[in-house]
Amino acid sequence: MEGRQISFIIRATYDVLPTPKNLHQWLGEDPSCALCQTPATLRHILTGCKTSLSQGRYTWRHNQVLRQLAITLEGRRTTNNACPPPMPRHSKTTPFVRAGQPPAKPSARVEATLLDTARDWRMQVDLEQRLIFPPEIITTNLMPDLVLWSTSQKLLVIVELTVPWEAAVGEAYERKRLKYSDIAAEAEQRGWRAQVLPVEVGCRGFVATSTTKLLKGMGVRGQAFRQAVKSMSEAAERSSSWLWIKRKDPNWAAK
Ligand SMILES: [Zn+2]
Repeated sequence: MEGRQISFIIRATYDVLPTPKNLHQWLGEDPSCALCQTPATLRHILTGCKTSLSQGRYTWRHNQVLRQLAITLEGRRTTNNACPPPMPRHSKTTPFVRAGQPPAKPSARVEATLLDTARDWRMQVDLEQRLIFPPEIITTNLMPDLVLWSTSQKLLVIVELTVPWEAAVGEAYERKRLKYSDIAAEAEQRGWRAQVLPVEVGCRGFVATSTTKLLKGMGVRGQAFRQAVKSMSEAAERSSSWLWIKRKDPNWAAK
């Protein structure tokens, strides 16, 4: 990380950046947010300012992180789809053991992933253009951040990313789970097996367990796993650092 970036993250983590609220405490300055005039803590600037929200600042940061997640999952999807067809579950046979000999050790087992049972996974990510939910599953106005589905196996995975203030990670998880539970229920009524997986990357770059679980569940391992976590963490940090730099600028144009 660059020095300036490290400095931002450390000061953001310990809340010692010159926010209006801190400057008010330290020097008696005006505690208001330059954009919306409410008292501005770091949490307000990075995740709670209504003006920033309506200008699309938080969506811009969210999409920076989502793009990194999508790159990783797209890699897994194409690798998985290129594998030989999966073995049917019932074809497991009992290995033959000769009398008086110990059973052979099972060969190194590849851990199961969410994608294992199908080879026709498709993926849709709500990034540049406004998408609609795959109509072959259900009709809805909601569009989650990322949808993975297999038509042949009728499997649906809904991934919804939040980039919250770190202390609000659990709250964000629950909110997103509820938001998409109706879609999952409706899809299940139509014969799909649906999973809703809310994931979070904190605005100061702390990748939540929900996110690492998703990566592992998708079969992202070893070096690829570390790289995926790092890229999401850095995307959140860099974007938050940029939002901090732009905190007094009333104009916002997503770069
Ligand atoms: Zn504000």
